[in-house]
Amino acid sequence: MIPFLPLQSVNASFEPQLSQAVQRVVQSGWYLLGEECKAFEGEFARWLGVSHCVGVGSGLDALTLALRAMAGLYHWPAHAEVIVPDMTFVATAEAVVLAGLVPVLAEVDDNALLTAENAEKVRTARTKAVIPVHLYGHPADMPTLCEWAGQHGLVVLEDAAQAHGAEVGGKRVGCWGHAAAFSFYPGKNLGALGNGGAVVTDDAGLARQVRTLANYGAREKYRHEVLGVNSRLDEVQAAVLRVKLARLDADNEARRQAARLYAEGIRSPHVVKPYQGDTQRSVFHIYPLRCLHREALARHLAAQGVETLVHYPRTLSQQPALQPYVANPAEPHPHALCWAVQELSLPISPLLTANEVSHICEAINQFNL
Ligand SMILES: *Cc1c(COP(=O)(O)O)cnc(C)c1O
Repeated sequence: MIPFLPLQSVNASFEPQLSQAVQRVVQSGWYLLGEECKAFEGEFARWLGVSHCVGVGSGLDALTLALRAMAGLYHWPAHAEVIVPDMTFVATAEAVVLAGLVPVLAEVDDNALLTAENAEKVRTARTKAVIPVHLYGHPADMPTLCEWAGQHGLVVLEDAAQAHGAEVGGKRVGCWGHAAAFSFYPGKNLGALGNGGAVVTDDAGLARQVRTLANYGAREKYRHEVLGVNSRLDEVQAAVLRVKLARLDADNEARRQAARLYAEGIRSPHVVKPYQGDTQRSVFHIYPLRCLHREALARHLAAQGVETLVHYPRTLSQQPALQPYVANPAEPHPHALCWAVQELSLPISPLLTANEVSHICEAINQFNL
């Protein structure tokens, strides 16, 4: 069986450094808000090309705390609207609700990404921010989105949870918006051995406010300025992430190479391959095929020893939990729906071999109805 993502093998490939890093923290006697977190924040910020990084407890918290900090610092009124693409992981919109704001869902394009054109269609006088998601590791068109947002005085928060290292025009995602949220969930391109996340920004005031909110709203010990939460990137995870960050560029290149081999090898008329623009460098967190007969193809591939997954089987409009909070729950988004019905994710990881890709391509090319 070719697994969708062999996490155990991926992490084993970082040994013995990974276990050594964990051991270093165990023996240090210091487990939260310490030197490992501080070092990782500096290394990640430098790697991205951004001034500030604040480690937090998860990707969801990174999005939520960034929005709460923005709403406070920029004096957004209650019920300010935030534009979110209708095809993404639920966390993108959930964070908007948790921050006391109103998600407005926008249609996506042929790459399942938000565009300025689709965002403009749902902009209202109440809109304060937009969250482009670099879904599947493909970068959204940030130059155009940022220009459009600037014209309307909107804040841009990038959801870069799936796109550590993706680039647009030589500039990494996470450096384009006012701030960006990253997740270090174990399966992400940069994955911890548990939960983790980060907010990155060039705005020192925003970084400071996120750090305060993430630490019970305290700027100094036992003086709580605002009602915060407990959301920290712990020392074990930070130490693990430092080891894995050192190899992330090479790992992303291995994913791109696998994606190139898929693009060359897949010739079935039943599937649509994901697009890769020249200047928009994806890091292929996911290799998303589209197929009108997804379930049949998934069964065929499973029989050939290939594990696949679906990202995601529902649009956000179709999520019961979000319905009461979304400003435009009933608006039809045919592209987003098309992705929900047709998407099938092939195995992809830095360890996927050319032989495995070739086996998977052959299996796809043999698929018949
Ligand atoms: C994983 C993910 C998140 C949430 O990250 P967690 O660390 O699981 O909270 C948010 N947005 C997107 C697009 C994601 O893929």
